[in-house]
Amino acid sequence: MAQKDEFQKFDQLVQQSQDLSKKLQEMKDSISALLIENAELKIENENLRNRLDADTTNSKKTNVTNAHQNLVKLYNKGYHICRPMYGAHRNEAEGCAFCLGILNDTDNKSKAN
Ligand SMILES: [Zn+2]
Repeated sequence: MAQKDEFQKFDQLVQQSQDLSKKLQEMKDSISALLIENAELKIENENLRNRLDADTTNSKKTNVTNAHQNLVKLYNKGYHICRPMYGAHRNEAEGCAFCLGILNDTDNKSKAN
């Protein structure tokens, strides 16, 4: 009788060990899947970040370029764009050092971006 009990205990342990082994394998599989998903998300995130950076750089450049072009148009139509005289009629025969300074500055900024 005692030998039969020992055999049953041993059989139970073997069964538990197999269950545990199966559970460990399942956990290993799901960890692998999570690691792959994590790697894919990191790559996707990096790609999206690069795209966002490129879009932001392009729109900043466009804004500065547009601002510069608007100032050039105003100046060429005969208006001051400088702070002290902004919007006042300009004598087209004479340049304004303040206006030209601003045009130079915005031109450099639109080229720098
Ligand atoms: Zn001016």
